Amino acid sequence: MTMDLTFLGTGSAYPSPHRGASALVLRTEGDCWLFDCGEGTQTQLMKSQLKASRITKVFITHLHGDHLFGLPGLLCTVSLNLSPAQPPACVDIYGPRGLRHFLRVALSLSGSQLLFPYAVHELEPTADQCPPEPAGRRAGLLRRREPAPAGAPGRTIPLDAARDRYALLEDERFVVEAFRLFHRLPSFGFAVQERDRPGRLNTQLLRDLGVKPGPVYGRLKGGEAVTLESGRVLTPEEVLEEAVPGRKATLADGHRERAVEHGHSTPAMAAAVARACQARKLVLYHFSQRYRPLSLRAEGDGDGDDDDVVELRRQAEEALRDAGTEVVLADDFLTIPIPIKRLR
Ligand SMILES: [Zn+2]
Ligand SMILES: [Zn+2]
Repeated sequence: MTMDLTFLGTGSAYPSPHRGASALVLRTEGDCWLFDCGEGTQTQLMKSQLKASRITKVFITHLHGDHLFGLPGLLCTVSLNLSPAQPPACVDIYGPRGLRHFLRVALSLSGSQLLFPYAVHELEPTADQCPPEPAGRRAGLLRRREPAPAGAPGRTIPLDAARDRYALLEDERFVVEAFRLFHRLPSFGFAVQERDRPGRLNTQLLRDLGVKPGPVYGRLKGGEAVTLESGRVLTPEEVLEEAVPGRKATLADGHRERAVEHGHSTPAMAAAVARACQARKLVLYHFSQRYRPLSLRAEGDGDGDDDDVVELRRQAEEALRDAGTEVVLADDFLTIPIPIKRLR
């Protein structure tokens, strides 16, 4: 099963011709999961090889506009282009408390009607996740409960305090969790873990041993040792091929203002996350618009420039020197395959 990550927008604050606002897509077997949806994400999608109609899940890190303002428009366009032949599937949208209210107000005040169901699952932030909010308009808006439209209302997901994690979803292929990040607004990172897949049965070897297909195959595959008619005990290890370890992608949005406050550079913070995840690869993105994309960087650029994107990579590499983690700078439309890591 192929799995890859495409960076649709690698800029922060606002979209520019050179860097779109925050958005990236994790693709697995044709399913697309969108992480953040800054303004202009739908045109970035159109310029890429990806199809907006394939988006089945959306994850929003926090409610700042450069991560969110593209979502109502994108949903409307997906609705407009729905094929009448295909029954629309529910789109699950995960993000901080307030996201459901934002979407309902944006869609209803603009008279937009989506022709597919969607559910917004809200993560409950903790009080210490951002500076204290003045008891103003935003707090009032967050307290308001909108009447639910038809369709799935979505869940409220509290922090699992013992694990310091939010359990978002679990199916036969993936476990997705969120974790808290600290920012001016409550912010979340997401960890997508593919489950390990058991190795295939070596049916040729079984046939050579005279074991015919039947329930015995299932028992061996389930990890059980089996005694053959000859009295020989056959262990699963003898007939199972190598298991396929699951892959993992962690998406965390490092934020500069906090970094500066603490006297660290953002790349060093990203490196710390990569180290904690024992990541093989760290991809830096969400650059200030003053960092020109690598593709536009002229020969001889650099040399002490404080707006040279290569300098950010150098800082992350330095922080990860002993960890063996590869550091990559993302330009818009960079696609990174997530290969299966063989155990031997
Ligand atoms: Zn941002
Ligand atoms: Zn932000």
